[in-house]
Amino acid sequence: MDRAAARGMEVAIVTNGHRLAEYLPILRRAKVREIQVTLDGPREIHDRRRPLLGGGSTFDAIVAGVDATLAAGIPVNLRVVIDRDNLEALPALANFAIERGWTKAPSFKTQLGRNYELHHCHTGPQVLYSRLEMYEALFDLAQRHPEVLEFHRPAYSIAKYLFDNGSTPPPLFDACSGCKTEWAFDHTGRIYSCTATVGKVGEEVGTFWPAVTRDDAEITRWQDRDVLAIEACRECPVRLACGGGCASVARNRTGDLHSTDCRPIRELLELGTAAYLPGLDAGEKS
Ligand code: SF4
Repeated sequence: MDRAAARGMEVAIVTNGHRLAEYLPILRRAKVREIQVTLDGPREIHDRRRPLLGGGSTFDAIVAGVDATLAAGIPVNLRVVIDRDNLEALPALANFAIERGWTKAPSFKTQLGRNYELHHCHTGPQVLYSRLEMYEALFDLAQRHPEVLEFHRPAYSIAKYLFDNGSTPPPLFDACSGCKTEWAFDHTGRIYSCTATVGKVGEEVGTFWPAVTRDDAEITRWQDRDVLAIEACRECPVRLACGGGCASVARNRTGDLHSTDCRPIRELLELGTAAYLPGLDAGEKS
């Protein structure tokens, strides 16, 4: 943190948050852009999904860390990782956050992550949602529990942006940050394109230890990937809202980095217009 401060760099932190309050004096030494903390539901659900190693509750310590971070004026990005096991508990977590005053804090934001299969090693794939299934379930949940929207307003592709700004967002030529704005470093000295590939044998793009090396051909392939480079995307009508998706998911699916990870843009826009433009029926909206 001292070195970041000396270089005038902002730091973004991802943590399980269990000892966040204790670390705050150290974290405050540099400018913190945000601290991302995960709560997977209210106490009972969260503690079941994210217990201490060896057992034990983590919820109260994380909540105390979020309280202290917000009180210090440091932005908190509260992440909830969603699957079929905890979605119905989201209203309870939303109410908890509302009652605690978090949702009124200017430096508080939320992010819903989808629990998904990246490496074919998930122990319970039946609980996973597809991207569209998750947003459909969220839409249905928010109809029944509008407080969910006070906690988190889903983007539904570009629908929230359209509703909030009255204009389209900048075109998205590239949805993937790998080897562009994102790199990942593991404990063995290898460098990867992003957090989705870190640790995968054979997917490193260089090393930082014991020597600094770069696989420039592979890095260039990552950096060149966008909706103009992927043949199937070039004529796609939703390409500038989709951006070609995640390169790692695409390569897991096809073996080729320059292939598609299609996002259900049209269906998401339909959900988004129904959520943010109530009063119109689906036909009028489309
Ligand atoms: S929906 Fe599929 S084909 Fe269209 S831009 Fe996205 S990844 Fe490419």
